[in-house]
Amino acid sequence: MARTTTEQVNPARSAQMSKVRGRDTKPEMRARRALHAAGLRFRLQARDLPGRPDIVFRSRRIAIFVHGCFWHRHGDPNCKLARLPKTRLDFWEPKLEGNRQRDERNIAAITAAGWRPIVVWECQTRDEAVLNNLVATVKNSPPARGAPSTNFSPPGT
Ligand SMILES: [Zn+2]
Repeated sequence: MARTTTEQVNPARSAQMSKVRGRDTKPEMRARRALHAAGLRFRLQARDLPGRPDIVFRSRRIAIFVHGCFWHRHGDPNCKLARLPKTRLDFWEPKLEGNRQRDERNIAAITAAGWRPIVVWECQTRDEAVLNNLVATVKNSPPARGAPSTNFSPPGT
């Protein structure tokens, strides 16, 4: 997979990526691989759902978001990837805070639509135990009857 993505031309992202270079694959890939290896089949990037979850189990109504720790502001104080840059804080802080708030709204919207959102953080995708737990969570959620709802009411109404 030597794909060039638009993300790689973003300097901040490149800086972030350089910290995790090496044999590491992208966080989504690590999550997908673990789920796939467990025999689970899923869809990617559901554009019809709030927040465009990365991995979707439609019949189980589970939506997984694999969040980059920097861009989505992982709240864990031990997360090294989420640290704010030392320069241009006046630029980064509102931008990243905006991302975080948008994530919050998306999670509320998808929950209101009857889905179960699961957020997996980038740094967690390197943790075998977290991935195993994710697999178990999906496996323990039986497929729901009927077609998933596509009616979304805005959160907080
Ligand atoms: Zn993190």
